[in-house]
Amino acid sequence: MTNSPVDRDILIIGGGIFGAAVAYELARHGLGERVLVLERLQPAAGATSRAAALVTMVRDDAAQIALARQTFRTIAELENEFSEDIGRRTVGALHVAPASHLATLQARAEKAATQGIACTWLDQTAALARAPWLAPESFDHAVFFPDECYVEPYLFATALLRAAVSLGVRSETAEVTRIVVEAGRVWGIELADGRRRAASVVVNAAGAWANSLSVDLGLPLPMAPVRSQYWISEPAPIFPRDGAIVLMPAIRAYARPEVGALLFGIRERQPAVADARTLPADLGGFVFDPDDADGWANLAEGADELTPYFPALETLGIAHYLTGPSNYTPDRQLVVGAAPQIAGLFVASGCNGSGISFAGGVGRLIGELIRGATPFVDPLPSAPGRHGNFDPYSREFLAACAAARAQKTSG
Ligand SMILES: Cc1cc2nc3c(=O)[nH]c(=O)nc-3n(C[C@H](O)[C@H](O)[C@H](O)COP(=O)(O)OP(=O)(O)OC[C@H]3O[C@@H](n4cnc5c(N)ncnc54)[C@H](O)[C@@H]3O)c2cc1C
Repeated sequence: MTNSPVDRDILIIGGGIFGAAVAYELARHGLGERVLVLERLQPAAGATSRAAALVTMVRDDAAQIALARQTFRTIAELENEFSEDIGRRTVGALHVAPASHLATLQARAEKAATQGIACTWLDQTAALARAPWLAPESFDHAVFFPDECYVEPYLFATALLRAAVSLGVRSETAEVTRIVVEAGRVWGIELADGRRRAASVVVNAAGAWANSLSVDLGLPLPMAPVRSQYWISEPAPIFPRDGAIVLMPAIRAYARPEVGALLFGIRERQPAVADARTLPADLGGFVFDPDDADGWANLAEGADELTPYFPALETLGIAHYLTGPSNYTPDRQLVVGAAPQIAGLFVASGCNGSGISFAGGVGRLIGELIRGATPFVDPLPSAPGRHGNFDPYSREFLAACAAARAQKTSG
C-alpha cells in the first residue's frame, strides 16, 4: 500500500451536486489549489442527473429557505461570472389547492412575505393561463411565486465543477473505500486501488452511498435512500414551454413543463426505500421494486388523486418514467455539518429530495465550517451526529425515512 503526497489536503468524496457545490464554494474563497474531488463514475452520475430539478425557495423552514436562496445566488454567479448556461427556466411556481387546503396556501404566502419572497394570489383565469392542463374545478385558490425556477441538473453540477476547476480545484476518477481516522482526527482516505491519501479535511458527499463510508467510523448518518420518481407525458399543446411549475399540496404532487410535455411526480403513501448497502454504484438499470420496474402500479395508485387536477392523464401516453434514490431523514432536516468527535470530517448529504434547491446553500455552509467562518445558517438542526448511535439499516428506521417522503408537499 502506498501513500500519496499531501499536495491536496481537502478531499471531497462524490462529484454530485453537493460535492460540486462544496468544491465551488471553497474555490471561490481561494482554497481551490487545496481541493481534490474524488468521483468513482462521472460527475453527476448519481441522483443528481435524475432530478426533476425544481429549484424552489418556498418551504416551511426559514433555514432551508436561506439555503435555497443561496442556490439562486450561486446560479447567478455561474451565469454572470462564468458564462455558464445551466438551462434555467424562471417560470415561477403556482401552488393550487381546493378550499379545504386554503390554510396551506395562506401559510406559504405568509412565510414568503416574511422571508422577502415575491408572491401573488391569482384568480382562476390567471392561474389557468400559466397551466392550461389544470382542470378548473380541481382548485379554488392559487398563489404564484414568480421567482421559482427549474434547471438542467447535469449542467448545474458540471458548471459548478468547471468553475471550481478554473479556480484551481482538481477532480479525479477514483473510488474511496474507507475514510481513515486516527486518534480522533481524520487521517485521509483509502482508494479501491489500495492507495492511501492523507488529508486534513475530508468531505463525505457520497450521496445515497454516504452511510457505507460513515457507519464504520461510529457515525451512522440519519438518512436512507428513498425512491423518488416522476413521469413525463407525451407532448401536447396544453403544455406551453413557458408554463409554470405547479405544486398541488393537497395530493403531494408537482409538475413542470418539459419541452412541450409535462413532467409530474406524486409522493406515494408508502414510498419504497432501499438498504443503502444494496445500491449498486451505477444506478443505470437499478429498480427499487422489480415487480413494478416501469412504475405503472405506482402511477395507477396516484392517478385517482391526480386525474381530477390533470384530466388529460387518462388519454395521454407516458413517454418516460424516471426513478432514483433521494436521502430522506425522519426529521426532514439535512445531514450537513461537521462530524462529532472526528476533527476534519464533514458530511454534505440528506437532501430530502431537494438537493438541487439546497446545493448552493449546502456548499456555502460546509465551506464556512471548513474555513472556520461564521456559518450563515445554524448548522445544529442538520448536524450529522444528531441521532447518536443507532442502526441506519433497521426496518424501523428505513420506514421512518420513507414516511418523511410520503408527507412531502413542497418542491
Ligand atoms: C427522481 C428524482 C427527482 C428529484 N427531483 C428533485 C427536484 O426537483 N429538486 C431538487 O432540489 N432535488 C431533486 N431531487 C434530489 C436531488 O437529485 C438530490 O438531492 C441530489 O442530486 C443529491 O446530490 P448528492 O451530491 O448528494 O448525491 P449524488 O448526485 O448521488 O452524488 C453522489 C456522488 O458520489 C459518488 N460516490 C458515491 N460513493 C463514492 C465513493 N465511495 N467514492 C467515490 N465516489 C463516490 C457517486 O458516484 C455520485 O456521483 C430528485 C431526486 C430524484 C432521484
